[in-house]
Amino acid sequence: MTVSKSALVTGASRGIGRGIAIELARAGYRIAINYVGNAVAAEEALALVRTTGGDGFTMRGDVSVAADRARMVANVVTNFGRLDLLVNNAGVAPNVRADLLDAGEESMDRLFAVNLKGPFFLTQLVAKQMLQQNPDAEGFRGRIVNITSISAYTSSINRGDYCVVKAGLAMMTKVFADRLAGDGINVYEIRPGVIATDMTGGVKEKYDKLILRDERGITPIRRWGQPEDVGRAVRAIAEDRFPFSTGAVFDVDGGFHLHRL
Ligand code: NAP
Repeated sequence: MTVSKSALVTGASRGIGRGIAIELARAGYRIAINYVGNAVAAEEALALVRTTGGDGFTMRGDVSVAADRARMVANVVTNFGRLDLLVNNAGVAPNVRADLLDAGEESMDRLFAVNLKGPFFLTQLVAKQMLQQNPDAEGFRGRIVNITSISAYTSSINRGDYCVVKAGLAMMTKVFADRLAGDGINVYEIRPGVIATDMTGGVKEKYDKLILRDERGITPIRRWGQPEDVGRAVRAIAEDRFPFSTGAVFDVDGGFHLHRL
């Protein structure tokens, strides 16, 4: 791995995105740390990246806004000269967990805009940028990673909008993988399980019970996932450990996806 590779990680100020940024820094990447509102957290993330010996910069931008996406990509290219890895990590949970029969359009529109439309058009922009770049020695122009969720295939009837949108992001991985494989750009999906972040902070007791209650809890590996668990999976992709895989799904979920008797 050369030290000059660069990554854009959306939503890297906190949680899973921060964990990804730190692991990529350990792999020698320079990181553009995107955030939408929490500049203090973004600076903390950058400081942690620097502690590993890595470097990068913070960049405000709302992935659901076209002008912000264009500015972000231009900014990364200005700062790093090229972009080798995009991680579509930024995402939001519903503000209110509502029964499927009461779920509102406003919530759906927000989830769609941030969790699916934003990543879709950001990926389109980044792919066009990568296509202009010379391939590396192995023919790679870039890699793209989408952070979906076990919710892409698991029903939760009090946040069905989130599940539906995450399923869309899973499909997005496949179509971009298909379109870009011939151009030296591999696209991957990482499906985290229950990870300890601000997003799950409000439902900690519920998941404590589900995960830790007994040896038949919802995950065979009986612990909460940590941002670093997801970061290490992204790092393996960033280090080109899967050159002959594209459109692949990586479950980073403590075995949640297993069907057990
Ligand atoms: P989190 O702790 O709530 O952090 C969310 C991050 O996304 C923050 O950096 C936030 O920036 C950023 N963000 C939110 N809206 C944005 C926007 N419109 N544009 C740009 N950045 C935006 O969430 P997390 O738990 O780390 O989740 C990260 C991803 O993993 C999400 O896609 C989530 O759906 C997925 N996921 C999470 C879990 C879990 O158990 N936590 C499980 C499966 C999948 P600010 O700091 O500026 O607000």
